Amino acid sequence: MEPARIHITTYGCQMNRLDSELVQEVLLAAGAEVVDDPARANVLLFITCAVRAHAEDRVFSNIGKLAARKRRQPGLVVGLLGCMAQEHGPAVRRRAPLVDLVCAPGRLADLPDLIAAARAGRPAAALDPSRDASGAAAFAASDAALDAAEIRRTLGPAVPGQAYVVAMRGCDNFCSYCVVPFVRGPERSREPAAVLEEVRRLVGQGARQITLLGQAVNQYAAAQGRDREGAASWRAGRRWDLADLIEKAADTPGLSRLYFITNHPKAFQERLARVFRDVPHVCPYLHMPAQSGADAVLERMNRGYTAAEYLDRVAMVRSARPDVAVASDFIVGFPGETEADFAATCDLVRRVRFSGAFVFKYSPRPATPAARRWADDVPDAEKRRRHGALLALVESIAAEENQAFVGRTVRVFVEELSPRGGQARRLNGRGTSSANPQSATGNPQLRGRTPCRRIVVFDGPPTLVGGETGVQIHRATALTLFGTMQKT
Ligand code: SF4
Repeated sequence: MEPARIHITTYGCQMNRLDSELVQEVLLAAGAEVVDDPARANVLLFITCAVRAHAEDRVFSNIGKLAARKRRQPGLVVGLLGCMAQEHGPAVRRRAPLVDLVCAPGRLADLPDLIAAARAGRPAAALDPSRDASGAAAFAASDAALDAAEIRRTLGPAVPGQAYVVAMRGCDNFCSYCVVPFVRGPERSREPAAVLEEVRRLVGQGARQITLLGQAVNQYAAAQGRDREGAASWRAGRRWDLADLIEKAADTPGLSRLYFITNHPKAFQERLARVFRDVPHVCPYLHMPAQSGADAVLERMNRGYTAAEYLDRVAMVRSARPDVAVASDFIVGFPGETEADFAATCDLVRRVRFSGAFVFKYSPRPATPAARRWADDVPDAEKRRRHGALLALVESIAAEENQAFVGRTVRVFVEELSPRGGQARRLNGRGTSSANPQSATGNPQLRGRTPCRRIVVFDGPPTLVGGETGVQIHRATALTLFGTMQKT
């Protein structure tokens, strides 16, 4: 049998992008070849997201398009990984008969064996335990295997100079519309020592920007207050919270930007607000999904806060550091959402003045409390109207806020060649790309982010990717700042 050549396609959130890096690490450690070009592959892996019906439909549609290729290339293995794999299990083949392999988020370390089994025509499925039957303890084995892969992980080439690090897995919040607590299991915080060791190693390999990840990362609570040097005395006698972890991670020599996402408003504490002011390298960016501005809707969503409490959290953060950019997610058309409820959401947006927001139309997910309890009663046309209106409002406020940057010089972390005209690709880690057109300056257009995560586009040498530079801003739109690189 010819050696496996594996291609990975990733959908969904940062957690999934980190899963993608872990999959690469696991496969490379097993001696497999991971290829950029899907046409060269004989194993196609899809890392999937089950949070929204639209994302699931897109994955199933893309897998369905492989039918002709499967006929031409009989040994081709198609693998479904991540949240959808856990949600559907082996039954996924009823909806996607081309799938040969399913692997849950906690079982990624088993992938080499699963691929070998699927290529030999044997059943290939590895799922996480059911959280109902077995609780957090049952996830210990898969967490240990993932920790081992995370600790071995080398800095990925996806965005040079930056890395995601898992602080906690799973979720216990049970927002009524969400499948994550069912597919990613109970909330488990990683040992501080393991997280800090991974941060040090990735920064040692060249990462300048680290993002600590968790579904509700501010609920981080680790039992053992010990760091790598065994300093049990630091925070001895009480659990570590996220502020402790940030304080220690920010000490890492060579680190210049630290983010933590995603934050749940109900658990956001003043102590964490103060890290924006007190801890060097913590960037002024808070992703804290509000989801709605109407208390009745928030209650049905089981979010655990009111709109007034959300505004209090934002005020707390901005009184610690006024320039913190707050970003959010919103769901429009949740069951029972009235026109007055939608107006309350628009009011919240006007009061907070978000730097950006993702707006989603509600879609019922099977097995969630919302899908069981309430009819999906907001007509699709109305959902579309609210979606468009809210996006337009968010963008008009972001455009106004971005005007304040015109004339200023900002520090930009350069992520990639700008995808201008849809031609550019991310750098391959060696600082070369043939696709991005050169500008009049003789340099290609680059894309990066301010510390508050606003997108900046400017002309500069490709060698800047993965590093920082100063850019003077001369024009701003709702989504992008345009500027000129400053000589350092
Ligand atoms: S906090 Fe709510 S929306 Fe976020 S992952 Fe947990 S259950 Fe889902």
